[in-house]
Amino acid sequence: MAATHKDVFEQMQRYIPGGVNSPVRAFGAVGGTPVVMERGDGAYLFDIEGQRYVDLLGSWGPLILGHNHPQVLHAVEQAVASGVSFGTPCMDELELARLIVDAVPGIEKVRMVNSGTEAGMTAVRLARAATGRDRVVKVDGGYHGHADTFLVSAGSGAATFGLPNSPGVTSGTVRDTLVVPFGDAEALDEVLAANKDQVACFILEPVPGNMGMVVPEETYLHQAREITRRYGVLLIFDEVISGFRVDYGGAQKHFGVTPDLTILGKIIGGGMPVGACGGRGEIMDLLAPAGPVYQAGTLSGNPLAMAAGRATLTLLQEKGTYRALAETGKRLFSSLAELASQHGVPATVNYLGSMGTLFFTDGPVRRYEDAARADKAAYARYFHGMLDRGVYVAPGQFECTFVSAAHGEKEIDFTLEAAEDVFRRMSQGGVN
Ligand SMILES: *Cc1c(COP(=O)(O)O)cnc(C)c1O
Repeated sequence: MAATHKDVFEQMQRYIPGGVNSPVRAFGAVGGTPVVMERGDGAYLFDIEGQRYVDLLGSWGPLILGHNHPQVLHAVEQAVASGVSFGTPCMDELELARLIVDAVPGIEKVRMVNSGTEAGMTAVRLARAATGRDRVVKVDGGYHGHADTFLVSAGSGAATFGLPNSPGVTSGTVRDTLVVPFGDAEALDEVLAANKDQVACFILEPVPGNMGMVVPEETYLHQAREITRRYGVLLIFDEVISGFRVDYGGAQKHFGVTPDLTILGKIIGGGMPVGACGGRGEIMDLLAPAGPVYQAGTLSGNPLAMAAGRATLTLLQEKGTYRALAETGKRLFSSLAELASQHGVPATVNYLGSMGTLFFTDGPVRRYEDAARADKAAYARYFHGMLDRGVYVAPGQFECTFVSAAHGEKEIDFTLEAAEDVFRRMSQGGVN
């Protein structure tokens, strides 16, 4: 008999802490055995037991074109054939950097790294070096990777597992990280006033995606720009999810607010391990070897990752791409809200373009405090109901649902039929 998820996961737990290489994959928040995937194709995932799923996880964000887009695949195959790593400059580094700088308003120069986490570390080091200050202000439930500085009131898996403040982070680091609620300009002003000349930067996801998805008020982003400038604090946008997701050029292009530094990841690697830190030229030129701030990476600017990212961004430039993505998103997310309401399941759906979250709570969700009120047991029932019906959504309430250019009417209809069935069962108090 072929391997089952249960067999494989049991073995995995023997060799890998918790059986996974990133915590949320373990289904800790929803219960049950993680599903082991074998392959992806367009809008679909296929597991090792032969089950097919409409994929609404999108590898946690990167797969805006779906799995194995022929042109991305072709670019990677060509790169593989030319050698997987050189440790020297390569042509696609230039091409991808040019695409990013041309697209993202706040980026004049960009340094490529291997993950969003690394990009966040680099941005904060740069901000501290540029300002000569130590402290960092972040948002409650904001996630910026797993660097020490950010594991204070962190979102995503840290929130899911009740570890927003991780052991192993020094008390000094915790002291230097200050937290404000998302969307509250007054709180930001107050914390910067109370810590005058001590705060290096304010880092936030302009479109939060790790407390579940929250739609920002445009005025808040403008206020954050104005307030940080007034206190000489650098504004860092974490666009690891929102960059090239909400718009070509990111949330800063969409909302017309330009930060000093930006971090990117996910989509710009087309599914390969990538991150990037970019910003104003004079700040970026503080990085070694142009300046004194050290930062390096053996595999940074890797030719396979650069090729996948370049092909992805090039495809995203095609006219009508983001309109089509937004139409698919609207069909899915607005119908989910309607169906939940029809069946009397308390739910709030936030969405923007091709990203969104279904929260099992009545009230509006505008910040982490609101999201934390959602019924996690209801989410777990929804997750397993969808999984059983062949739809893979994120295994946690504080995450996003993503649609891709590969999701058509057929996949959305299939998803909505599954959801309606699940909501009906939930309203009847059933398990699935
Ligand atoms: C995923 C994510 C990161 C971390 O990126 P990794 O590549 O997982 O290190 C940082 N910020 C945001 C907003 C993210 O969603």
